[in-house]
Amino acid sequence: MKNIIIIGSGIGGLIASNLLAKKGHKVTIFEAHSMPGGYTAGFYRKGYYFESGTLTFEASASVFKAMKDIGVFEKIDFVKQRIRFVSEDFDGTPENYDDYKKMIYSGFPSDKEKLDTAFSDLDKIVGLWNVDEPMPFLYGGLKMLKSMLPYILSAPKQIKLSKQYGNMTSSEFAARYFEKDSKLFKLFSGFSYPDMPAMFGTGLLAMLTDLWTVKGGMQSWADILAENFRKLGGDLKLNSYVDKIITKNGAAVGVSCKNTVYDADYVISAGDYKKTLLKLLDDKSLIPQALQDNIGRAAVSEGFFTVYLGLNMFNEELSKYMKVPHVFAFDDKTGYDIYNSEDGEFFSKTSASLFSPSMLNPKHAPEGKSSLMLQTMVPYHWMNNWGGGDKEVYGKLKEKAIDAMIDSASRLIPGLKECIEYKDAATPLTYERFTHNTDGASSAWSWNPKKKFYKNTMSVNIETPAKNLYIGSCWAMQIGGVPGALAAAYQCAKKIK
Ligand SMILES: Cc1cc2nc3c(=O)[nH]c(=O)nc-3n(C[C@H](O)[C@H](O)[C@H](O)COP(=O)(O)OP(=O)(O)OC[C@H]3O[C@@H](n4cnc5c(N)ncnc54)[C@H](O)[C@@H]3O)c2cc1C
Repeated sequence: MKNIIIIGSGIGGLIASNLLAKKGHKVTIFEAHSMPGGYTAGFYRKGYYFESGTLTFEASASVFKAMKDIGVFEKIDFVKQRIRFVSEDFDGTPENYDDYKKMIYSGFPSDKEKLDTAFSDLDKIVGLWNVDEPMPFLYGGLKMLKSMLPYILSAPKQIKLSKQYGNMTSSEFAARYFEKDSKLFKLFSGFSYPDMPAMFGTGLLAMLTDLWTVKGGMQSWADILAENFRKLGGDLKLNSYVDKIITKNGAAVGVSCKNTVYDADYVISAGDYKKTLLKLLDDKSLIPQALQDNIGRAAVSEGFFTVYLGLNMFNEELSKYMKVPHVFAFDDKTGYDIYNSEDGEFFSKTSASLFSPSMLNPKHAPEGKSSLMLQTMVPYHWMNNWGGGDKEVYGKLKEKAIDAMIDSASRLIPGLKECIEYKDAATPLTYERFTHNTDGASSAWSWNPKKKFYKNTMSVNIETPAKNLYIGSCWAMQIGGVPGALAAAYQCAKKIK
């Protein structure tokens, strides 16, 4: 039996801790926040429930396998989602990639030829995605080899497409078919994170059949995993920020939290990679200077701005306008630029996604009321990082951004402003405060293929320069997200015998 400390109870930390406790190890989680879950969590304000991070997730085959391995699958009320896409030109709730294509063709009939060429290339990328099987990282031994078989068989195709599209950003991909700044250019380049590799950004369309959420809210998922961990004998320490990872002769031997030292045979950091190595690790001489520079420079994924609204509006009324709980409203205005941190009007130009927790589950709002979240990605360090530390300026910027987002959502939901009885928002600074992810990074490293931290996009990198210190969060993979966290958790659990 090994004594293992896990820093962080996001989905990565919770999965790693359950797997390791199940193997009979002594596992302690240190979580800085008062609740478990990290980005897989939620919170109540004035009787309204809101999500803290992930709204929907993909890669369900991997997620479900993990929950079955741990033994909690039956307890979690996973529900399938469909996203409605709305713009001036189209309005649809596609069930799959083919439906999505039909929706775009119907919105842009005069661009049929250009769309034919773009979609014929996209078909090849989308066809490559296998959303039905768990990732090979989730298996060990022969089973892992078996699960790799489909990837090995499709390797020649994969390599060919990777060479063509692996380092091409979605903007470069879109520019091959559509005039820059045209609506179709924006649509094809802006589907997900800005400047994602075309292989992923556009490939995400394959996932339209594989979008899931949790009816009880993400917090219920985290709570079930935390409860199971405790039943397995694990110790979950909440409100316990780790301020140092202690090493001896180049190996992790414990952590320090609230002036107390806790010994361990292994430490798994299931949170931010940059902070793990540059802030928490006690002996920086273990990290070669080139790596330190690289970590410091490496770009992280964009953060979000989210508005939380409690509405004095019946769910039925909200449903008339939203149709489904999750809506992407594409209406970027002229001048929208995610790289312009100095554009004070950014929020009146950006598109928003709308998500209603109460439409998913009426229990998420008081009787007769409803709830709504408005969300958009934000330029890094917008307006001198939200006011350069000045609280008053921060408040004003936040208020201005909230108003702009509500204005834009009002186009879809008439009378929205008059129904608001609770209102707040989270900036990337809020996300960082609650999860310790650098700049509120929503999915670990930058998605831009030109700014990769790891050479290989699909590799899982749990090792660190310190022996017995592993990364168990989404930061172990370039693609980050829930799949990154899952893969890291499994690799950590396999590593510790
Ligand atoms: C708005 C939004 C939408 C998203 N949508 C999707 C999606 O559709 N699909 C998808 O795959 N992913 C999505 N993601 C990303 C996904 O939520 C995350 O990548 C994933 O949940 C990260 O899990 P994690 O366990 O690696 O880390 P986190 O969830 O970041 O958890 C880290 C935990 O570690 C704790 N911690 C950190 N440092 C310390 C310390 N020193 N001491 C103690 N505790 C510490 C933090 O408090 C936190 O609880 C989204 C994220 C956001 C914000």
